[in-house]
Order: sequence, then structure tokens, then C-alpha cells
Amino acid sequence: MPGIDLHTHSSVSDGTETPAELIAAAVAADLDVIAITDHDSTTGWDPAFAAARGTRLTVVPGIELSTQLDYASVHVLGYLIDRENAPLVAAMEHIRAERLHRAEAMVARIGADYALDWDDVLAQTTPGATVGRPHIADALVARGHVTDRSAAFASILHWRGGYYRPHDAPVPVEGVRLIAEAGGAAVIAHPGGRGPDRLFTDKRIKQLVDAGLFGLEVDHRDNPPGSRARWVDLASRFGLVMTGASDYHGAGKPNRLGENTTSPEAYEAIVAHATGAHPFVP
Ligand code: AMP
Ligand code: FE
Ligand code: FE
Ligand code: ZN
Repeated sequence: MPGIDLHTHSSVSDGTETPAELIAAAVAADLDVIAITDHDSTTGWDPAFAAARGTRLTVVPGIELSTQLDYASVHVLGYLIDRENAPLVAAMEHIRAERLHRAEAMVARIGADYALDWDDVLAQTTPGATVGRPHIADALVARGHVTDRSAAFASILHWRGGYYRPHDAPVPVEGVRLIAEAGGAAVIAHPGGRGPDRLFTDKRIKQLVDAGLFGLEVDHRDNPPGSRARWVDLASRFGLVMTGASDYHGAGKPNRLGENTTSPEAYEAIVAHATGAHPFVP
């Protein structure tokens, strides 16, 4: 079985390793294919391709687009998109700006109760990176308020922790449409990872499929184990491809490269479907 891991992050968003370090880690893990899917950014693609040169690792360029449905945040993976597609580029720029304002607002709230300011967050963030709660978590760790990212997410950064702020983002149907119209293959990331499975009713899945949805990330550690049958059933009834991936964030999360993988058949279907870019084959 080849090792195909279609969901990873670098320091271009909230991973702790540069794109080159991410590629080196994937080579060390003996993977055959990885997708680099930073939140709302394609900046990591070129350095990842450059780092893969001379290895046997295929790199699938992608994104993880932030979308919002009422109070739920829904992540949509977009594989092999045209990174110059104007509507998608504009949406990613808008989301990154919204994330920045939201992070500043959260830090202002936290700063009222804890020694923390925006410079602490900047010190933990690669210039130009898509800013998220993980960067605030790193600043809280550096200040000694919590021991690690997970502890920060379980307390101060939790959505019920008293400091949480949402950020504006497209609705999932719009995110899927943007990816599909940019030639990409759209896959709902960790569909069971946020709250009740009830979010993805048949009706909602139908709307997403009509907007161009191509797959569901069925094998992911954040999907409750008991929910797998539901994703498999939805995928088979709506003709969706099923993927599996680690959602590796370097040292920022316990997720290990290759802990979940995608079948060669599903991977080939994604490559055959998408028209916006090609995998980088060294
Ligand atoms: P945000 O999009 O800014 O609200 O932050 C959510 C991001 O934080 C997700 O994309 C995850 O990568 C990361 N995250 C969520 N929970 C944890 C956790 N317990 N430990 C580390 N990172 C987390
Ligand atoms: Fe993340
Ligand atoms: Fe995600
Ligand atoms: Zn992710």
C-alpha cells in the first residue's frame, strides 16, 4: 500500500515546520504522496515543490479553505486548484484579513486578564502566514500561561472560554463552488470534527454536491469513530470519493504523518477530476 497523506500544514499557516521541513518529514516518514493544504493560502506550494526535487515524494498542491455555517466552522480541502483563479484568490485574501482582525480582537480580550499582547503573537508567526488560534496558543505558551497548544485550546482559546471570536468566511456551499470553479477537487475536511454529525444532513450534502463537492475526509482522527458508517453511507449514496489523512501540524498537534491515508484509487480520481494544477512529481 503506498503512503498517500492528503492533508498537512506548514508554517505558511499553523504548522510548526517550514514547507521544506514538512517535505523532509514526509520523506523521512517514507510517504509516497503528500498534499500541502495550508489554511487559506498557496504560498507554501513553490517551496514545497523545490524541497521535493531529487526525492521520491509526489506533492499535491492544495488548500484548506475556511468556511462558516451559522456558528460552525467548516473546513473544505481544495486539491489542484488554479492558484491564480481571481475569485478564489480574492476569497482567500478576505479570509486571511478577517482572521487577522479576529486574532487581534481575541488578543485584546485575553490581554485584559493575562499578560499578552499582539507582539507576543507576531513573535510566533511567520510573516504573511494565515493567522489562527494556534499562533495565539504559542504566544500563551511562550508567556507561561499554558503548557502547550492543546492546553490552550482546552481553556483560554476554547469557543466557550470567554475570549473566542468568530471570523467572517464564505458559507460551505460558496467555498465548494469557489474551489470547483478554480478547477479543484473539493473535499470536506474532518466532517465529524466539529460538533454533531447533524451538521451534514442529507439535504446539506446534496446542496454541497450540487455546488461541486467531490469527496469526504472519512479517515481523520477528529471524526468520532462511531460516525464512520455515516460518512461511508453518505459517500456511496452521493457518489463522493473517500479520503484519509493526518492533518499534520508538525509539533503543533499530536497528529503524525501517515496515521491515516488515502487509497490509490481515490487519489487517482482526484487527480483525474481536477484541472487547475498538476501534482509535482520529482
Ligand atoms: P482557528 O481556525 O483560528 O479557529 O483555529 C483552529 C485551528 O487550530 C485548526 O485548524 C487546528 O489546526 C488548530 N487546533 C484545533 N484544536 C487544536 C488543539 N487541541 N491543539 C492544537 N491545534 C489545534
Ligand atoms: Fe490548522
Ligand atoms: Fe481543519
Ligand atoms: Zn487542517
